[in-house]
Parts: sequence; C-alpha cells; structure tokens
Amino acid sequence: MNASLASIAPQPEPSAAVARFLKRTPKLLIGGEWVESKSHKRVPVMDPATGREISSVPDASAADVDRAVAAARQAFEKGPWPEMLPAQREALIWKLSELIERNADELAELESLNNGKTKFMASIVDVPGTRDYFRYMAGWATKIEGSTFNSSIHGPPGVKFHTYTQREPVGVVAQIIPWNFPLAMCSWKLGPALAAGCTCVLKPAEQTPLTAIRLGELILEAGFPPGVVNILTGYGETTGAALVAHPGVDKVAFTGSTEVGKIINKAATDTLKRVSLELGGKSPVIVLPDADLNMVVGGAANAIFFNSGQVCTAGSRLFAHRKVFDQVVEGLSNAAQAIRLGPGLDPKTEMGPLVSKEQQDRVLGYIDSGRKDGAKVVTGGEAPASAGYFVKPTVLANVRPDMKVVREEIFGPVVVAQRFEDLDEIAALANDTPYGLAASVWSKDVSAVHRLVPKIRAGTVWVNCHNFVDPAMPFGGFKQSGFGREAGRAVFEQYTELKSVCIAI
Ligand code: ADP
Repeated sequence: MNASLASIAPQPEPSAAVARFLKRTPKLLIGGEWVESKSHKRVPVMDPATGREISSVPDASAADVDRAVAAARQAFEKGPWPEMLPAQREALIWKLSELIERNADELAELESLNNGKTKFMASIVDVPGTRDYFRYMAGWATKIEGSTFNSSIHGPPGVKFHTYTQREPVGVVAQIIPWNFPLAMCSWKLGPALAAGCTCVLKPAEQTPLTAIRLGELILEAGFPPGVVNILTGYGETTGAALVAHPGVDKVAFTGSTEVGKIINKAATDTLKRVSLELGGKSPVIVLPDADLNMVVGGAANAIFFNSGQVCTAGSRLFAHRKVFDQVVEGLSNAAQAIRLGPGLDPKTEMGPLVSKEQQDRVLGYIDSGRKDGAKVVTGGEAPASAGYFVKPTVLANVRPDMKVVREEIFGPVVVAQRFEDLDEIAALANDTPYGLAASVWSKDVSAVHRLVPKIRAGTVWVNCHNFVDPAMPFGGFKQSGFGREAGRAVFEQYTELKSVCIAI
C-alpha cells in the first residue's frame, strides 16, 4: 500500500467555541449591523482537509455593495469617526488587538479549519501577526504628519505666505483580500486604513471568509462606530467587481493574483480610484557556493513549503551554485519527504492541504506540465489518497528557463531547482521573470551579498532567511508583482491624500 494512503489522519472535532461559531449563520456587516444579503444566495464554505461543507456565507449582491459603500461614506463624512481624535482611533485599534489576543485560540482554530493551515502555524504566525500588525498601526494614528516650508511666492507688496502640507484620509476604501492568510490580510488592510481615518468595505476571499466574520464581531465589540468597517462576503467576479467599479469608493487595495490585479486596475480607472496592488511572485532563492548548507536546506524548505507554498513570496525558484547544487537538492528533498501531511487541527500535522479542490487541481496540473516538459520529479509530485485537497511537497529538477513551471506562479508546495555556474550571471537568471516581489540570498560572504542585492529587481530581499515580515518593513512588488507598499511608514502613502495649504497673511 502506498504509505500516504494511511498517512492522512481524520480531522479532529473542533472546540466548543468554534462549534458555537459554526452554528451561527454568518451575515454581512453593514453600518454596524449584521444583515442578510439582498440576493438571499449563499456561498458554501469548506474544510479543505476533508472536502466537507462547514458553513456558508451570504453572496453579497450589487445592492449590498451599494448599501455597504453608502454606510462607509456616511461614517466617513458624518458621526463620531471624523470627529475622533487620532489618540481615540489609536485606542480603538489597540482594543481590537486585545480582543484578538483574548480570542486567539478560537481564531487560530477557525483559520486552520477554513484555510487548511495547521492550527499550530495559525497560532504562532497568523494570529499574533494580526494582533501585532494592528498594534503597530494603532501607534501610527497619532504620528501622521504634514510639513511646513518657507515659501518663495512673490505676492503683492506687503503680502506674505504661510504654506504647509497636511495628510488627510483618502476616504472610503474597498479592500479585497486573498485566501492564503485570511485573518492577517484583514489587519494589513484595515490597520493602516483605520489609523489614517478612512472607512472600509472589506471583502474576504470566497473560500475563506470565516475569520473575517469573527473579526467583524470583535470590531463591533471594540466599539468602532457603525459603518467604519463593513464586511461583504461573496465571489470576486460579482461582489468584488461591483465594489471595484463603485463610484462611491475612493481607493481600492487588493492582494491576490496578478491576473485579477490587472482586471481591478483597469476597472478602477473609470473613476480614477487610487489603487494599490500586492500581486503574485516567483521568488528566487539564491544559494552562493560558500553558504552554510544546513541553514540553506531548512531555509529553502521553509521558503517553499510554509503555508503549503500558498505564499506570494514563496521561494519557488531555487538557484544553487553548481558546487553545492546536488547537496542542496538532496537535503531539500529529504526535508520535503519528512513533512507530515494532515488536517490542521491534528497537532501531529506539519503541513495541511491546499485551500480548495480548484487549487489542488491547478497545482497538480503544473506538476504534470513540468513532467511533460522533461522536468525530473525528485520527490512528491502527486496527491495522497484523501478527500482533502492535499499535494505532497514537490521538488522538480532538470528544468529549463522556458518551462511553464519555471515561469508561472504555481502557488503550491512545488519548487523548481536550477544550477548556476557564474556569480555574474545569477542576477540576470533571478530577474528573468515578470514578477518582482521577493528574493533570498544565502551566503556568508558579505561583499558578495552586498554586490548582489542591488541587482535583484524585487521589493524585498532576504539574506540568510526567507518569508519573514515585520509591520515596520515595507512590503510590495516591483514589475508585475504590483505597486504601492504595505506596512511601515510607506503604507500611509496609500491611505492618505496630501493637501497643500497656502495662506496669504
Ligand atoms: P486566486 O486566483 O488565488 O483565488 P484571486 O486573485 O482570484 O486569487 O482572488 C483574490 C481576491 O480577489 C478574492 O477575494 C477574490 O474574490 C477577488 N476577486 C477575484 N476576481 C475579482 C474581480 N474580477 N474583481 C474583484 N475582485 C476579484
């Protein structure tokens, strides 16, 4: 019998808190209230470890989008939100972070059950990351500044000018997020928008709406005024598209695929909405000949297999110098084989399923295309027998730069390994992609690292690590990985308008 047949354990029963959540019937959060969709249609929500339906959420219609945008507009222009002091916004965002901490276990479990990632990972990465992102952004509410400058305007005799700039919230923001880090992406979007004084209509991905709904409950509990955060569930092509096209929306912030990012960018053009796009990647992991190979093997495995490879910065193209290539590929393959697949709530599981059947089929399709193009499947390359959407961690070698598996984003646990000879050619190889989100360089040679980093066309370059983010570290893409930066001071470029004030005195 194939060892993997017996290897997928059953999904354990959820805790009482999560079972209670699953018994509720999720609604839309509009104007501070949970309301039914005008469409009365629902979107099924699955447990990807079992393929079973665990809940359903409203399929928000264009009429619901109208209601949510109107509520956000009303909250932006009238009522307590625009009157609030920055310190009061800070306190509210901080309070939300405390509620996240208080409900951390339930949130981690819900995230695991809906997305497939392990509860362990959700509780050490997603949930504390969400809490800390809100905390960091809470502090920014009181630190958004303009500047004064001495004007050289020649005015009428005797008239002087006092000139300064101030930053004001961009307005009503539509925020569309993906399914790979459902809760954390809520904080990446809502945190800076709320700190800046915007109001929001957030749309989680149709596959993973549950933690966004739970977060909505916590947002109400924290005491945000009605309409400041509205949450619409539904499909991208309908709910998402209506939101992006809505004339009442001032800005669209999107994280997702490059394909959809292009559609959104075009749709937002009609009313010249502000747009920020955090899109796909095909990030290189570059191993120089002097690198510490123990560190490289663990690091390269984490770079591609973390979150089942469903990470926009996943290290999906491994470039190892020919002197170390065989050792690195062997180590990585051994690491891949040792990963225990299973359902997210089982504490023994090290890697969960992919998020959906569609995603599983897509990833397996890419592996097949690699095989047909002549790639060698060093390890993995198939799904274990299970009703869940699992794919074994996969290492492909003997690949050529023109293969689909090398060029396109797979968004699964599949790495393509390539050998390089010459340090002078590696930047060109790494940059031979339409994407430019991230990269990592592995070496102890400080000079080689510093020479290479400026040549890499990517928004983040990690050295001797991969996939680490910090709320203070700007995050975003070069090239077709998008534009605009999230996190850090830089994100406020996205959520504020800069106003110049010129006073004749
Ligand atoms: P993936 O292809 O990995 O599922 P997508 O980029 O399709 O990722 O989805 C990311 C988010 O974009 C989801 O919330 C999805 O519902 C939304 N979305 C998909 N298509 C559109 C669209 N045409 N307009 C607006 N939002 C969309």
